[in-house]
Amino acid sequence: MLKFNYYSPTRIVFGAGTVNEIGTLIREFKVKKVAVVFGGNSAKKSGLLDIVEDRLKSEGIDVILLGGVVPNPLLSKAKEMTKEAVKFGAEFVLAVGGGSVIDTAKFVAIGVASPDTDIEEFFFQRKKVEKSLPIGTVLTIAAAGSETSDSAVLTDDVTGTHIKKGITTDYNRCKFAIMDPELTYTLPKYQIGAGVADIFMHTSERYFTDILGNHLTDEMAEGLFRDIIKFGPIGVKSPTDYEAMSEIMWCGSVSHIGLTGLGAKGDTPRDGDWSCHQLGMAISALFDSTHGATLSAIWASWANYVKDANIQRFAEFARKVYGTDEADDEKCANKGIEKTVEFFESVGMPVNLHDLLNRDVSEKDCEELAINCSYKKSRSIGSFKSLSYDDMYNIYMAAR
Ligand code: NAP
Ligand code: FE
Repeated sequence: MLKFNYYSPTRIVFGAGTVNEIGTLIREFKVKKVAVVFGGNSAKKSGLLDIVEDRLKSEGIDVILLGGVVPNPLLSKAKEMTKEAVKFGAEFVLAVGGGSVIDTAKFVAIGVASPDTDIEEFFFQRKKVEKSLPIGTVLTIAAAGSETSDSAVLTDDVTGTHIKKGITTDYNRCKFAIMDPELTYTLPKYQIGAGVADIFMHTSERYFTDILGNHLTDEMAEGLFRDIIKFGPIGVKSPTDYEAMSEIMWCGSVSHIGLTGLGAKGDTPRDGDWSCHQLGMAISALFDSTHGATLSAIWASWANYVKDANIQRFAEFARKVYGTDEADDEKCANKGIEKTVEFFESVGMPVNLHDLLNRDVSEKDCEELAINCSYKKSRSIGSFKSLSYDDMYNIYMAAR
């Protein structure tokens, strides 16, 4: 086995009805003022916000409700919420929602802990994060895995770069995550599909990387692929199927908790390739597209572009995940790519940029995307195969 250094401190409270445990969970932190961060209307409409507020208040806790986080969340919103949370004297930040809400809450927690520093300093990594308030999550959508991950992703709408990027630090680790699959029953099918695509991709990014060697890690990754491929389409078809929605929800965390990439290069669980995430985030930043849908739209183009760097790996993926019975590695690899495209389609996700954006995509669009993704040609991405500006452009072009 290759060496690794694994850290995952989040308490996970999983199952139907676990939302009612929020009061007891927070009690442990002995805090009196909690900032509750949420998104648009879904948590209000379902009554979840009322339940959370009620449970906190019955613990004698003062609550400030900070709503309005949008998908592809904005740095300006995190700044605004930080100011309000500082004024309120928040001691704990509770995210009620999905990745966008949790990521915003992570920045708010960092911002409140350092009230004299602008959170832009942390976003642009000019300052290192050295403290944060404790964060908890009541998860309402299985997708980003932010409830257990160490990263937080926002789009800069403050300084004009329009870059969507993340910061990674153990201060982004939630103290607990309540994962009650019944809270996801109100999700639109498109969001379930996008979540399923994102979950698949969090393991794909770790599975297709340069240095490999931990057999158990591969077995777990392949098991995760098989599980999400099995239950994803069931959940999209029947959003109130408890078995499917709970499998999807747990896949969401396991896929991004580091386990499916342990030992894959270096000694941190986050190592992997991450090209599709970088390519996808540039699409989201430019067109405000749903994160998971950007990943499914780009994956096949990326896979076909990079597969020759290690065709055996793609062949192994097809054999272990789809049971492809094909002796020739190249044919087998191609079959695995085809099957993955079919899987994305089965959960209602786009498999090219035209279907994602509902319009033709021009060479100029691809240039702009590649410029943004390469930070104006100043960086390359990926480890399975390193990709420069030209490669990014070619991948976008092939994904049209
Ligand atoms: P999301 O952007 O948090 O939410 C997507 C939509 O789903 C929102 O419109 C939200 O509506 C709705 N929604 C959520 N729960 C619902 C429910 N139970 N019923 C009905 N509607 C519901 O989705 P996400 O995919 O979890 O997060 C995506 C973000 O996470 C992206 O910005 C992505 O880049 C980021 N991400 C972060 C990480 C990480 O580790 N930090 C990893 C991957 C991706 P409301 O606003 O009304 O609630
Ligand atoms: Fe993601």
